[in-house]
Amino acid sequence: MNEHDSERISGLLEADGMVPAVSEEEADVIVLNTCCIRENADNRLYGALGNLKTLKSEKPELQIAVGGCLAQKDRELIQERAKHVDVVFGTHNVQNAVTLLKKAKTDGPVIEILEEIVEGDYEAFPSALPVRREVDHRAWMTIQIGCDNTCTYCIVPSVRGPEISRPFGQLLEEAKDFALQGVTEITLLGQNVNSYGRDLTKNLKHNDPSDFDIHQAGLAWADNQNRRVKPLFADLLKSVGSLEGIERVRFISPHPKDLTSEIVEAMSASESVCEHLHLPLQSGSDSILSAMHRGYTGERFLEKAREARKGIEDLSLTTDIIVGFPGETENDFTDTLEVVAEAAFDSAYTFIFSQRPGTAAAEMTSEFVDHDIAVKRYETLRKVVNRSALLKHKDRIGRIEEVLVEGKSKKGTDFVTARTRQNKVIHLETNESLKPGTFAQVEVKDATYNYLVGELREIIATPKHRKRIPVMAE
Ligand code: SAH
Ligand code: SF4
Repeated sequence: MNEHDSERISGLLEADGMVPAVSEEEADVIVLNTCCIRENADNRLYGALGNLKTLKSEKPELQIAVGGCLAQKDRELIQERAKHVDVVFGTHNVQNAVTLLKKAKTDGPVIEILEEIVEGDYEAFPSALPVRREVDHRAWMTIQIGCDNTCTYCIVPSVRGPEISRPFGQLLEEAKDFALQGVTEITLLGQNVNSYGRDLTKNLKHNDPSDFDIHQAGLAWADNQNRRVKPLFADLLKSVGSLEGIERVRFISPHPKDLTSEIVEAMSASESVCEHLHLPLQSGSDSILSAMHRGYTGERFLEKAREARKGIEDLSLTTDIIVGFPGETENDFTDTLEVVAEAAFDSAYTFIFSQRPGTAAAEMTSEFVDHDIAVKRYETLRKVVNRSALLKHKDRIGRIEEVLVEGKSKKGTDFVTARTRQNKVIHLETNESLKPGTFAQVEVKDATYNYLVGELREIIATPKHRKRIPVMAE
């Protein structure tokens, strides 16, 4: 989500006539887009600002801006700790970045943090702004912002606000537009994507839907005799997945408690929706899951995972896990290891619990887990995750897979990096110069726990995207 916000900030600056600088020393404007989900991101901001202080004293006309969710949280504190910052903006006013920079030039330092987005202001959704994408064949599409859940460790609801979905019709238009530009892969973004649309259907006429209602909730909802308040994520997957030119649809992140069979069916029915499900487990202990407010048990998670694997052929399953949540005992941690082993994840992002100000878990100080114990658990967990990842990856050796080329590979000049439909990085050996966006068939030759190695068999399609120049919509 933050990376996507960064693309928008760059897009806005480019639309205003700026060009990317090759180094910090050459830049006229430096924007630090921040994340506050875990404490180390916090610390890195102040370190980075410290480094920029010298640059700013040598070049006073340099403008430094700080945006993102850490700015939303820290507000004035940023300028207090770093007086050389010109602009601080939050998560609800990314669209004002350029105006704020101009204002700061004439009026001096400015802080603008909005508590929430103005209703109906779809410009506040990052996808509605100009963009400067890293690659041209792939696009992110924010389908929803904010989060209505109350996971006790998580700062997102307080810095990104309540859940608001973008109208269904608007998303389809945007996706069609992407397809016309030659984008072949779309990733749907949200904090809880599978509850997408619940808020939209709340305020509609359920008996006799108007054109407005259809734009808000989509044709599938309007055509259904049983029109009710419901999430529309399955409908969205099917609609975006059926657009001509869109070969791959991905999404992050769904919440296990909201993963319905309708979604599994939509994933399996739509050829473009990739066989990859990132389903954050967080913990395998029922008492910790309950203290986290996750709304499922370890067994329920496993049932959902089994159902998804049964319904979607060759599904890759990945997850997020936190160790050292307050009160986590050795037994709780063993439960996590057991669920992780049983789920046989293809990979996992693993974290040590980080105390985030304002969250319920931050108050449970008497139950905090000793840091050394948490580190030990983290290392054990990594071993179990890496073991299943390696097995899953080795299983793919000898297969022919469809990959989408991303660019240069760290493995050397005879390789390019590509991604399989299961979202696995594959270093592809080839002496042909394959442009990013190329689809190819490759044979998997080798595997480690975090990547595959393959050889080119056949090029299926070359990229069709046009290079786009961001345009500011007045
Ligand atoms: N909305 C997404 C999560 C976004 S945050 C979801 O529900 O899956 C990404 C991940 O960061 C979370 O899944 C969680 O594993 C981790 N995380 C969030 N807050 C954390 C905290 N306080 N300490 C450690 N990890 C945390
Ligand atoms: Fe945070 Fe939970 Fe919402 Fe994810 S679902 S953003 S972890 S509160």
